[in-house]
Amino acid sequence: MNEKRQLERTYDPRPIEKKWSRFWLDEGLFVAEAASPRPKFSMVLPPPNVTGILHMGHALCFTLPDIITRWKRMQGYNCLWLPGTDHASIAVHNVIEQSLAEKGLTREKVGREEFLRIAWDWKTKYGGVITSQLKRLGASLDWSRERFTMDPGFTRAVKHVFVSLYKEGLIYRDYYLVNRCPRCGTVLSDIEIEHKDLHGKLWYIRYPVEGSSESVVVATTRPETVLGDTAIAVHPDDERYKHLHGKKVRLPLRDRLIPVITDERVERDFGTGAVKVTPAHDPVDFALGKLHGLEQVIVIDGSGRMTDAAGPEFKGLDRFACRAKVVEKLAGLGLLVKTEDYDHAVGHCYRCKSVIEPYLSWQWFVRIKPLADEAIRVVEEGEVQFVPANWTKTYFEWMYNIHDWCISRQLWWGHRIPAWYCRDCRQTMVAMDAPERCEKCGGPLDQDEDVLDTWFSSALWPFGTLGWPDETEDLRTFYPTDLMSTGFDIIFFWVARMIMMGLKFRGRAPFRQVFINGLVRDVKRRKMSKSEGNIIDPLEMIEKYGTDALRFTLAALAVPGMDLSLSEERMAGYQAFANKIWNAARFVLMNLGPVPAEAREAELSLADRWIRSRTSAVTESLTRSLEQYKFYEAADTLYHFVWHEFCDWYIEFAKVGLREENKTTEAVLTDTLGRIVRLLHPFMPFITEEVYQHLPGAGRSVAVAPFPEPRPEWADAKAERTMALLQEVIVETRKVRTENKIPPREKVGLWIKSSGGEEARLLAGQTALLQTLAGVAKVEFAASLPAGEDVLKGVAGVFELAIPRSVRIDRAQEKERLERELGKIQADIARIEQKLANSDFVGRAPRAVVDENRARLAGLQDRRDKVEKNLAGLGPAA
Ligand SMILES: [Zn+2]
Ligand SMILES: [Zn+2]
Repeated sequence: MNEKRQLERTYDPRPIEKKWSRFWLDEGLFVAEAASPRPKFSMVLPPPNVTGILHMGHALCFTLPDIITRWKRMQGYNCLWLPGTDHASIAVHNVIEQSLAEKGLTREKVGREEFLRIAWDWKTKYGGVITSQLKRLGASLDWSRERFTMDPGFTRAVKHVFVSLYKEGLIYRDYYLVNRCPRCGTVLSDIEIEHKDLHGKLWYIRYPVEGSSESVVVATTRPETVLGDTAIAVHPDDERYKHLHGKKVRLPLRDRLIPVITDERVERDFGTGAVKVTPAHDPVDFALGKLHGLEQVIVIDGSGRMTDAAGPEFKGLDRFACRAKVVEKLAGLGLLVKTEDYDHAVGHCYRCKSVIEPYLSWQWFVRIKPLADEAIRVVEEGEVQFVPANWTKTYFEWMYNIHDWCISRQLWWGHRIPAWYCRDCRQTMVAMDAPERCEKCGGPLDQDEDVLDTWFSSALWPFGTLGWPDETEDLRTFYPTDLMSTGFDIIFFWVARMIMMGLKFRGRAPFRQVFINGLVRDVKRRKMSKSEGNIIDPLEMIEKYGTDALRFTLAALAVPGMDLSLSEERMAGYQAFANKIWNAARFVLMNLGPVPAEAREAELSLADRWIRSRTSAVTESLTRSLEQYKFYEAADTLYHFVWHEFCDWYIEFAKVGLREENKTTEAVLTDTLGRIVRLLHPFMPFITEEVYQHLPGAGRSVAVAPFPEPRPEWADAKAERTMALLQEVIVETRKVRTENKIPPREKVGLWIKSSGGEEARLLAGQTALLQTLAGVAKVEFAASLPAGEDVLKGVAGVFELAIPRSVRIDRAQEKERLERELGKIQADIARIEQKLANSDFVGRAPRAVVDENRARLAGLQDRRDKVEKNLAGLGPAA
């Protein structure tokens, strides 16, 4: 025995994880080769926000692609998985502005320069939290190529894209009504708005017609905008208002005269059929106002306060306080006709949940249609594939209805827009570097105050990180990447825009496949949230169960297209699996001879041939599952094979061989363990590295050891068939023994009913194993079984078994026991049958759950038949 080869008595993940993550980095095992004759496999990590703290969504989103990249690396690919972080404008502003507020400061008070200095300091200090957490997950990222969306190279890429698109007319500036979050103090793009149904009100307001005693009544959900109305609109064919065409009405509270205009887009059936028009504060009215040349009166400013134009009574009020005051005043003047409850969708900021305010201002836009057309084409033509494929539909729906993208944000942290305006002649200049003076009149210039939407820069992530706009070796080798793994919630924010930008600037889509992760929910399938108190923290789980158990759990739950329902029990279960692997490996290592054993074909036992056949089959099926990103299937295959075949059976059989110092068995045992370690490595990188390093003939690291390949010549249907029969007989014999409390040491006789068929012949060759593993003294094959009260019966697949007992059993007690069991089985059967008869359950539950229930039912029915048979065999109670 080689002492150095021994594993510690118990498996403690912490020191092992620490040791190997350090080792992988020191050895540079995950550093890709810029130029290599080997085929490449590349991915970029969805860059987490610098403000990020690892949560279970990250853990999933990083574990699954790590499994793929580790697997590819072992297959010999030149793998690049590029990490980095995103500067996350709004999130950083939230953090910094909050800390300023604690000191009674605002960003305006400290000024742009100081604010940016604070933000960079913060980034240097805390921006690495998420990356160090990523390392604990064992993600095999190439840290030598780590990037940040605001590093100098990436910044150059961002400017380059802005300038090029501007020159092509694909970026323009316009005075436009945009969505603004008054709390965050910035404009948001359409998809950064969350629409939520609110219980609101509909206020009916009377506008007196000028020069008449008549009035027009309009309904609104936002009465404070009355102050900015510049027209009333009616449908041209609406008989109720025909006589008012061309007339004017008096705007309540402001005492301004505004025209009654006609437009076919006015819905005659909504409210009173007359609508107020507020071009500066509503997108529909904005369009209407442009068409009719209406004035745009801004009454609410960017922070949600009323402006001078709202009038002295309302100026400076918060928009919601103003709403209350307007309603009160209107009621006092008798101009409020009625108020109705009204549920309607209201836009909220996706970050801080404040109600969005439409806001009229100068903004920058990307003319998206020409970019979107190409991005639609590549998905239609299969150049980019979504996995699961049903996300393709979601993608198309959005792409066909896409609007120009507002990319300017009224923030400071981010990529400042490379546009300058002449103070004298208002000329706009867009350039990579700051121009000295106006190209038209030579006047002084001011740079645009705004920064770009964070998604504008992250859209360039797959090529900006590889050195673009320079034609680098990395860019040539690794672009386009192979796989993007991300959440469904950023298909539009990010995936679609990466496709557009990649096509525009590299002529090829940035990845071949997009794997969309499910959402991690709790065990009751509820979303994890602070308010529910049901958050499972990945770092806490790592402390408790080890990283490998966490990773294996996530893989085992990852059914494509479905959310995951996570529980700690599941993790504890896979921690037990890690312990099982550890103990099995420890046993094997303890039993190795000083010289590596070699297998001789002629000396292979049934068990050896069987485990080889199974290893090859499992390798093949695992590879197939991974190719299709069926992580749950791959994990399930491995779990079952390692635990129920290798540990439960093969090691037991091998013990017999080892006792006889059978070198072939020793060789097969070692080889199988080595294969298991490599098959498991992508899922459980740490424990497998530890075991691998103890194996005879280990290379540098399991992370770069060749991934096992199936061995078709090992396929042995006969061995598998024989082993299945043998296992059934052993299991049943053991069960009969336990049920009848036969002490483990007592050897029994075993009768197997046989009419001399093929099965019996196969089994008959293995009586030695049967004797050892089932505690049997003698096995007899006979056409009929012995009868009598003291003969125990059993059924193992096609065989009927009998174990004659020397000791009489208490029949009454046995009958009672069997009846109790039968009752319990029948109750279980009834419960499952009822469940399966429920079409609601069958229709809604995941397929796997329904199948599992069906399988359990079949198992129970089988068991019921056996118990009934045993009961019948007992005869009437004495
Ligand atoms: Zn906000
Ligand atoms: Zn000028």
